[in-house]
Amino acid sequence: MTSTAEEYDVIVLGAGPTGENVADRTVAAGLRTVIVEAELVGGECSYWACMPSKALLRPVAALADARAVAGSREAVGDGRLDAAAVLARRDSFTSGWNDDGQVRWLRDTGIELVRGHGRLAGERTVTVEAEDGSERMLTARHAVVVCTGSRPVLPAHVPGLADAHPWTNREATGAPAVPGRLAVVGGGVVGVEMAAAWRALGSEVVLLVRGDGLLPRMEPFAGELVAEGLRDAGVDVRFGTEVTAVERADGSGPVALTLGGGERLTADEVLYATGRAPRTADIGLEQVGLKPGGWLDVDDSCTVLGVDGEWLYAAGDVNHRALLTHQGKYQARIAGATIAARTQGRPLDTARWGAHAASADLAGAPQVVFTQPEVAAVGLTLAAAEEAGLRVKTVDHDLGAVAGASLYGDDYRGRARVVFDLDRRVLVGACLVGPGVAELLHSATVAVVGEVPIDRLWHAVPAYPTISEVWLRLLEGCRG
Ligand SMILES: Cc1cc2nc3c(=O)[nH]c(=O)nc-3n(C[C@H](O)[C@H](O)[C@H](O)COP(=O)(O)OP(=O)(O)OC[C@H]3O[C@@H](n4cnc5c(N)ncnc54)[C@H](O)[C@@H]3O)c2cc1C
Repeated sequence: MTSTAEEYDVIVLGAGPTGENVADRTVAAGLRTVIVEAELVGGECSYWACMPSKALLRPVAALADARAVAGSREAVGDGRLDAAAVLARRDSFTSGWNDDGQVRWLRDTGIELVRGHGRLAGERTVTVEAEDGSERMLTARHAVVVCTGSRPVLPAHVPGLADAHPWTNREATGAPAVPGRLAVVGGGVVGVEMAAAWRALGSEVVLLVRGDGLLPRMEPFAGELVAEGLRDAGVDVRFGTEVTAVERADGSGPVALTLGGGERLTADEVLYATGRAPRTADIGLEQVGLKPGGWLDVDDSCTVLGVDGEWLYAAGDVNHRALLTHQGKYQARIAGATIAARTQGRPLDTARWGAHAASADLAGAPQVVFTQPEVAAVGLTLAAAEEAGLRVKTVDHDLGAVAGASLYGDDYRGRARVVFDLDRRVLVGACLVGPGVAELLHSATVAVVGEVPIDRLWHAVPAYPTISEVWLRLLEGCRG
């Protein structure tokens, strides 16, 4: 084992989208920055989450769009997706799980890379253990930023689960072939997206959900419409279903699931999409007085709470503010600006919406669920607004009744809701469900985050004939 000490201005632990963006910002501020990565530069997002999952789902949407209108419907007929072509395109998005391109980007950006498992070893100090067991010691003049992301969680209490080699997001996004039968456990975003993707690729899919609906953090109608879409696609969606035991004989062959009522179900693979945990168990938190294994508590500038000296930051999934790539990258920009300001002795602006406050995390992060129909939501749901004590009203509208939507699809089904703050007369939430709504989301985000007064928003005229015209009906409802 060798050990050398190297000094940088900033050390970033984890080269997912968040870590890359922190490093980009600190290098741009003239700070010598090193990024430490244990696996692939680009992180979970590039190889086992956002990119491959959306590469699997985009052909599903393209085929649905072609089927939605007479003329192109006849052109595609009853054709199914070409699974081999879809998987090959997915592989191209992950560059065959090779990070050369992202490593080149680091180099071109002026970010240094150290490969290996990083651990905090004390104040402003990180040790990195390489695959060959050698160790390097890095010290930071200014900051260490933890961007180690999250990992899937399997329930501890299900007998046989670990030995059955269940799929997690990694296999669900990276599988080289289509399983004949896939059981998906969990009705959150990952569960519904992966059920939709593999069903369209030809698997027989059963979706097992403990609760009584899908997408529990969204407006209830979103889960209802997505369940309807999955059932129309042939997914067997079951609510109120608990998996009590899992068995895969000899660790290979089909997997048998026992359900709460004693029913048995057989599948070729079982995907557990039942939540995420922080990757903090083995990053040396105990060396800086923090408890290993937990989410890292930060203030709005992404400075870790409970550590003196304002040198330790955490951004992205690992701080649990919003487990989304775009929010991690947003926090990265805030953390980068904070580090730059502190190193230059400039005061921080941590007031709400200040340059050093990730306020948008708390306003409700925008999120798209890429199923058929799509779900696009930002801000608070009605339930969350009421829980926050706001005096609100909701305005709902049938998206299918909008001219642009009827042009989009002959039998367009969808719904939109805004949550209107009656006291401040601004929107605090929006949820759109229907084909093609993902690209409408940013208009809602601008309205919610910008806190645009409703009487001003009224003058933002949506183009005819687009689905965006739903805004007119929604705003009329708020003003009336
Ligand atoms: C199936 C799926 C689909 C998703 N789809 C979307 C989507 O469409 N849009 C969206 O916004 N979000 C999506 N997400 C969420 C998104 O993937 C995460 O929010 C995002 O990856 C978080 O980025 P991050 O940089 O914080 O962490 P990660 O992407 O997890 O990166 C963390 C990096 O740190 C490295 N690391 C960890 N520990 C160490 C250590 N000790 N030393 C060195 N390196 C270390 C890891 O190897 C990894 O490369 C999806 C998630 C899943 C599971």
